[in-house]
Amino acid sequence: MTALLDTSAASQPFIVATKPSLAGLDRAGLSSALSAVGVPERQVRMRVEQLWHWIYVRGATSFESCANMAKELRATLSAAYTLDRPQIVTQQVSVDGTRKWLVRLPPDGPGQRGHDIEMVYIPEAGRGTLCVSSQVGCTLNCSFCHTGTQKLVRNLTAAEIVMQLLIARDDLNDYVGRVAADGAIVPREGSRYVSNVVFMGMGEPLYNLDEVSTALDVMSDGDGLSISRRRITVSTSGVVPEMTKLGSRTSAMLAVSLHATLDPLRDELVPLNKKYPISELLAACKAYPGASNARRITFEYVMLKGVNDTTADARRLVKLLAGVPAKINLIPFNPWPGTRYECSDWDVIERFSDIVFQAGYSSPVRTPRGRDIFAACGQLKSETEKLSVRQRERLSAMAAMVAGQDE
Ligand code: SAH
Ligand code: SF4
Repeated sequence: MTALLDTSAASQPFIVATKPSLAGLDRAGLSSALSAVGVPERQVRMRVEQLWHWIYVRGATSFESCANMAKELRATLSAAYTLDRPQIVTQQVSVDGTRKWLVRLPPDGPGQRGHDIEMVYIPEAGRGTLCVSSQVGCTLNCSFCHTGTQKLVRNLTAAEIVMQLLIARDDLNDYVGRVAADGAIVPREGSRYVSNVVFMGMGEPLYNLDEVSTALDVMSDGDGLSISRRRITVSTSGVVPEMTKLGSRTSAMLAVSLHATLDPLRDELVPLNKKYPISELLAACKAYPGASNARRITFEYVMLKGVNDTTADARRLVKLLAGVPAKINLIPFNPWPGTRYECSDWDVIERFSDIVFQAGYSSPVRTPRGRDIFAACGQLKSETEKLSVRQRERLSAMAAMVAGQDE
């Protein structure tokens, strides 16, 4: 069964913003914006804190609602800036509650098209995880990943990354003092719909480390969005030289896309392995700042039928990770149109998982979520929205098939 709520405004025009938005900015960005419209230097700090509260705690979308700021200042800010979010092109809710948004960033210059990025929210009992993108597309071309086939690539700014969290909170009414949104799983008392953030959407976060780090500062700020750094996980395909920097700069949790235990196969699945082979990747994991038994590194392993799913692979995997504080996430491969891979059969995944479990690792098999709306890992590719009707029909048929298998 595939039930879909699609609030698409499919062929919406690109909206060219007339005024810049302050939503998503860090304190330094807000300070410059305030100084630029003549807020006296001695007031800037206090005004930044006020704005910070309105934007990140209360979810304000216009300056008019910033009640404790002088009317005159609100008018000055409104004349120069907005608190607008980027345009939401489509928003889909899966039968399992997973939500996916296609968000259109304004064009970089006159005459250019905007960029589309996707983000996904996965509700669970008492918590919810938002999967954000760090780039438009990805340069790395992992052979099993849909995002890697997208040609257009650019880094997202920190504000564009933070904005993804704001959009999710807007939509889920996930701000202090707001009434809970209908249809979403109600979180524990005092907790939030979005309690965790993972950088597992489009892009390689470690190729955009500066902006990702700034976004992490804003998301984890205790006087604002308040998502603890321990609940923010950055996933990398193995950009070894940036891993230590990520840990020392952000204290984020680390996830590593391993997917193979031998270099020749990993070279094929994750071509970056040719540059940074498995031995170097594991050495960087062992040296990851803050990694401990209480703060384990997650190793992601996508289950590909007949490719990396034998019992010998499972045994090599646990041997390889000896001495690393590790968790292992077995991810059923999510198919996409045109891929040459298939997901391993369930009994094969279970056999693999048993070996990993017997070796002392918890090895939850990540239940595929949001398959009916193509929101699962590696299926994110904004081009899906631009497919022809025939292609769309094929996608729906495929989605129905996959959803049927899950029942
Ligand atoms: N670029 C980063 C983060 C984004 S990808 C990285 O590679 O780690 C997030 C996760 O989804 C990675 O573990 C990636 O290997 C996995 N993934 C990509 N395509 C997938 C697919 N089709 N099925 C299942 N997992 C996939
Ligand atoms: Fe890029 Fe990650 Fe996809 Fe590889 S798996 S192409 S690194 S997004």
